[in-house]
Amino acid sequence: MTLGNMVNKAQRILRLFTIDDWCLGRQFAMQGYGLTNKDRGIALKTLLLMAGTEAYQRNPQRGITLLRRLAENGQFHPAREFLEKEGITELQSSRKCDICNGVMDQLPQAAKAMIQALKGWEATSLLIGTKVDPTIMEKEEQLRSELQIDTGEPIKAELNREIGKLVTAKLNLDVDFDAPDIVGVIQIPGFIVELEVHSLFIFGRYRKLVRGIPQTRWPCRECRGKGCPRCNQTGKMYTESVEELIAPTILEYTGGKDVKFHGAGREDIDARMLGTGRPFVIEVLSPHTRTIPLIQVANRINNSTDGKV
Ligand SMILES: [Zn+2]
Ligand SMILES: [Zn+2]
Repeated sequence: MTLGNMVNKAQRILRLFTIDDWCLGRQFAMQGYGLTNKDRGIALKTLLLMAGTEAYQRNPQRGITLLRRLAENGQFHPAREFLEKEGITELQSSRKCDICNGVMDQLPQAAKAMIQALKGWEATSLLIGTKVDPTIMEKEEQLRSELQIDTGEPIKAELNREIGKLVTAKLNLDVDFDAPDIVGVIQIPGFIVELEVHSLFIFGRYRKLVRGIPQTRWPCRECRGKGCPRCNQTGKMYTESVEELIAPTILEYTGGKDVKFHGAGREDIDARMLGTGRPFVIEVLSPHTRTIPLIQVANRINNSTDGKV
């Protein structure tokens, strides 16, 4: 799109919509580099202000029309100040942006809600997602089809990025698109946050020093874990397992919700596992803490299981 086309499109958008800097700039998101959409919006409004004040010198009525639109629909303060200086004061006060209904002005509040929700969850990497009110996306669709704009990006992409920037900078976290520790999804508007806390995987090796213990918790065959006379109401075939001997210490250190035990194969219940032991991975679901003193944890497990593992 040429400069003239860009300015014309921005002009036409402002004729039809009340629009803030973010939402105007987003229609041209594919143009320029290293800019926020707010930068783009301000740049376009600045050009229109310059054209407007110039028009005002030659043809005051025409200039006033352009600048009034910029002040009222564009929420652009310099245009308002210019007109007020020229004695044109009967201007409408700015309404909320027609596209986002003002949510783009609330990015700091959205980031704050996310930061609050992340309290107590250790993470080194994060991915932010948003659930955007469909009416916001419909309005943007309407604008784009009316004005044939094909240089924009979805508001959702911008919200994910801009909220992500604020949150990761504040908490000193990395953005990770593939395997983040936590995915935080925030509703727009409303700012209700849901966290998807990814599992922590701890590698280890176990030795089983006594016979008669299965590797993992084994639900009772009769009652499938509900508890019955056969299993003495425990719901289990065996009172303990390697998994159950290890899990409590792991959960205590990580604050996780539960564990899943993944052994590299398994031995018979009646067999021991000696030597260097059998490799396993214990998956901790919803861990609050991810950095744990592994050697200390291993010692605690070894000392707390009465010589069984
Ligand atoms: Zn907006
Ligand atoms: Zn049972």
